[in-house]
Amino acid sequence: MGDLRECPSCALEFEDDGQKACPYCGYEFPRQRTSVKAVAVVLILIMLWFALQGLF
Ligand SMILES: [Zn+2]
Repeated sequence: MGDLRECPSCALEFEDDGQKACPYCGYEFPRQRTSVKAVAVVLILIMLWFALQGLF
């Protein structure tokens, strides 16, 4: 389930399911949340890998 998000162009609210553009007016907005999340996951995996290397 996505959060409600307001389009900065037409000010209508819509369900934020990761789409790159407003479903009403087609305004494309920049998204960084998913990429930041992916980087964080990779960093955690790298840290876990180093921790396991130290343990065994
Ligand atoms: Zn819009």
